[in-house]
Amino acid sequence: MDHFDIKDGVLHAEDVALPEIAAAVGTPVYVYSTATIERHARVFLDAVADVESTPEKPLVAFAVKSNPNRAVLAILTKLGLGADVVSGGELLRARAAGIPADRIVFSGVGKTADEMKLALREGIYQFNVESEPEAEMLSTVAIELGTTAPIAFRINPNVVAGTHAKISTGGSEDKFGVAYDRAMAAYARAAELPGLNVRGVAVHIGSQLTNLDPSRAAFEKVGALIADLRAAGHDIVTADLGGGLGVPYDPAKPTPPLPDVYGAMVREVTAGWNVRLLFEPGRVIVGNAGVLLSKVIRVKPGVTDPFVIVDAAMNDLMRPSLYDAYHEVRNVEPDGSRMTAHIVGPICESGDTFAKNREMDAVEADDLVTFMTAGAYGATMANTYNSRALTPEVLVSGNNWALVRERQPIESLIAADKLPPWL
Ligand SMILES: *Cc1c(COP(=O)(O)O)cnc(C)c1O
Repeated sequence: MDHFDIKDGVLHAEDVALPEIAAAVGTPVYVYSTATIERHARVFLDAVADVESTPEKPLVAFAVKSNPNRAVLAILTKLGLGADVVSGGELLRARAAGIPADRIVFSGVGKTADEMKLALREGIYQFNVESEPEAEMLSTVAIELGTTAPIAFRINPNVVAGTHAKISTGGSEDKFGVAYDRAMAAYARAAELPGLNVRGVAVHIGSQLTNLDPSRAAFEKVGALIADLRAAGHDIVTADLGGGLGVPYDPAKPTPPLPDVYGAMVREVTAGWNVRLLFEPGRVIVGNAGVLLSKVIRVKPGVTDPFVIVDAAMNDLMRPSLYDAYHEVRNVEPDGSRMTAHIVGPICESGDTFAKNREMDAVEADDLVTFMTAGAYGATMANTYNSRALTPEVLVSGNNWALVRERQPIESLIAADKLPPWL
């Protein structure tokens, strides 16, 4: 469910016609719908509202990496969400958007001592620690600051997530988490370290999950581990079940499980755990709340199908080249006719291809097109390859819209290079 619909023949974001934004801001531009973000956040909150969670209701910590725009974070914090951050930069952004520190969880395999210091000074809710050496470093840093770090170990449950290899994180050869078989030893060691409050278990097996069985298997392992840890004398009071729920990209594929089905599964598996539950959804909150609006530069004849060359490229939206991801492409003012084409950007890489042999709305030069479901892992992964400036972002709310990130001036990109004195 989203708020991108054709009205009077023109694709709108809520009540704003997309050509209006293109005319004012230029293309390419990301456009987000507030109503869609709010709707998905509420659906997720409702889906986990009646899981057992004690002594407080669950913490839903939005995975900031999926869409770190401060305006997006500000919408979510108003609804009570927190943040799952994976760098000091994300932590500062979350704080700058008004997310309280006690709703922030810090994940990631490579936290540096400086990032740990920052997070301890801010007083975040929990560190999800991914290795024993990380626990040792965090202990040292906490002692230096005269404080105690609340930690969970992220466990690698060794389950096959059944998603694209580059977004699978819970297999034993993936870099994430402490191997399930080493977990008891890691907790025993951490419990002896000063400056740590070892109090939780965390898991996150991957992204764009379209089947709940791997998650269920991982959560069951977490449940068994909590029991073993308690038997060994550890006081476990939080369990973080990560993110990963998939969203529909390709209308021809089955719809991934909806949040309420996920919530029911969680309720069943976690009954009796007697912990506060944490969740880290990203994509499912913002994925289909955003589109990348682009203009067709020209249509170049091909040997078989033509190439639709658009002004967005792999630097603006990396998912197709990175993960072979599917994004539906629509003409903003479709006339009902269809064509089959390759959709490509202007970058000098064959990988700058959004779709091959795609059956789509017919388009010609100067038509506006949208890449749908681009709200997650879109603008956040953009880069400046081919000296293309970073894409601007627009937030729509009803019939209002605002630029929430300016188009990067190409001059600032060039000025960032400094010539050495001898040139
Ligand atoms: C990326 C990530 C998430 C969010 O994943 P989604 O698929 O966007 O829900 C949650 N937790 C951790 C630790 C992550 O790395």
